[in-house]
Amino acid sequence: MSQIDRLIAHGVRNLQPYQPGKPVESLERELGLIDIIKLASNENPRGVSPRVVSAVTEALSCAARYPDGSGNSLKWSLAERLGVSTEKVTLGNGSNDVLDLVVRAFVNPGDEVVVSEHAFAVYVLASMSVNAQLRVVPASGYGHDLVAMSGAVTSKTKLVFVANPNNPTGTYSTMGAVENFLDALPPTVLAVLDEAYFEYVTNENYPDGVALLSRYPNLIVVRTFSKAYGLAGLRVGYGIASKEISEVLNRVRHPFNVNSLALAAAEAALGDETFLDESIQQNLKGLKQLGLGLDKLGLDWIPSVANFICARVGRNAAQIYQAMLEQGVIVRPVANYGLPEHLRISIGLEIENARALAVLSEARISSES
Ligand SMILES: *Cc1c(COP(=O)(O)O)cnc(C)c1O
Repeated sequence: MSQIDRLIAHGVRNLQPYQPGKPVESLERELGLIDIIKLASNENPRGVSPRVVSAVTEALSCAARYPDGSGNSLKWSLAERLGVSTEKVTLGNGSNDVLDLVVRAFVNPGDEVVVSEHAFAVYVLASMSVNAQLRVVPASGYGHDLVAMSGAVTSKTKLVFVANPNNPTGTYSTMGAVENFLDALPPTVLAVLDEAYFEYVTNENYPDGVALLSRYPNLIVVRTFSKAYGLAGLRVGYGIASKEISEVLNRVRHPFNVNSLALAAAEAALGDETFLDESIQQNLKGLKQLGLGLDKLGLDWIPSVANFICARVGRNAAQIYQAMLEQGVIVRPVANYGLPEHLRISIGLEIENARALAVLSEARISSES
C-alpha cells in the first residue's frame, strides 16, 4: 500500500470511477475515422432547440457575472410547469449532482442504501463514497423488483434508489407497483425516484412522481434536462421534494452549482414544447425501428420505454463493441452493470439507427470468425 493509498477515505478506497460513453473526438483521434456516430450516452440526437442557442448566446455576454446562486428564474418556470412551489425545487449540475446531494445530506457511514441489480451506476458510486452499506436487490426480468426492494429495508436503511425507467435496461415500474412500494416503506426511509427519461415515456400506467409527492413526504423525485431536452453538455437537473427535504439539500448544494449559460438554456428549453414533442415522437419511431431491426438480426432485447435499447448480442459482446467502434459506431458496453452479453444502443436519427443495425450485423459475423 502506498503512502497515498493509506490516506484515501474508506468509502473512496474501492471506488471505480463512472465509465462514460466514448467521446466522438477520442475515437477520431485513435482510429483516424471520420463520420462517427455516437449512440452511447442517451443524448438527444436532434441536438439543441434553436431557442436554446439564442438564449445561451445572449447569456454569454453576461458571463463575467456570477449566476443567480438560487437559479430563481428557472425555479419559477419549473415550479409553474410542475404545479409545485419553488421551495420544493432543488437545482443541480445535472441530476447526478442532485443524487449526490441527497446522499451527502442524509446518509451516514454505515447507513444502508437499497438499489436494484442492473441499476444506474451513480447510486452505488454516491453511496460508496460516503461509506454507506449497499444492499443490491436482484432484478426481476431485468427490471426493479420493488416488492423485494421494500422487503430489503431494515432498521438501518436510510435511502432506496428507484430508477423509473431504469438505465441501462429501459424497464419501468407501473403506477400500482410504485404506489405499493411507497406504501410499504417506513416513513423513516427516503425514496429517490429517478425520472431522467420521464418525458419520453408515453405508457398510460407509468406514474408521474411529482403527483405522488403530496401523499409521500419521504419521496424525492429527480429529473434532468440532459435527455429529452437535449442539454447533456450544459449540466442541469433538479429534484422535487417536500419543503423540508429541499431545505436540507440546499445546505450541501455548492453555491452557483448551475452556471448562467445552463440556467438560460434550461429555461429556453422548457419554453420550446414543439422541440420536446418532436423529440418524443421521433424517439418512439426510433424505438420501433431499432426493435424491428434487432428482431431481424434474431437478437433478444429488453423492451424499453426510454431512448435506448439494451440488446443481447451474446458472449462476445466486447468484441462486437470493438468491431462496431472500428466502423465508427459507438455504443455502450454494459458488463459493469452485470450485463456482459448486452450492448446498450441509444436511439439516434433514423439514418443513424439504420447504420448501427447494419454495422452490428457485420460485427456479429466478423466476431464469429
Ligand atoms: C442520464 C441519467 C441521469 C442524468 O444525468 P445528468 O447528470 O442529469 O446528465 C440520471 N439518472 C439516470 C438513470 C440516467 O440514465
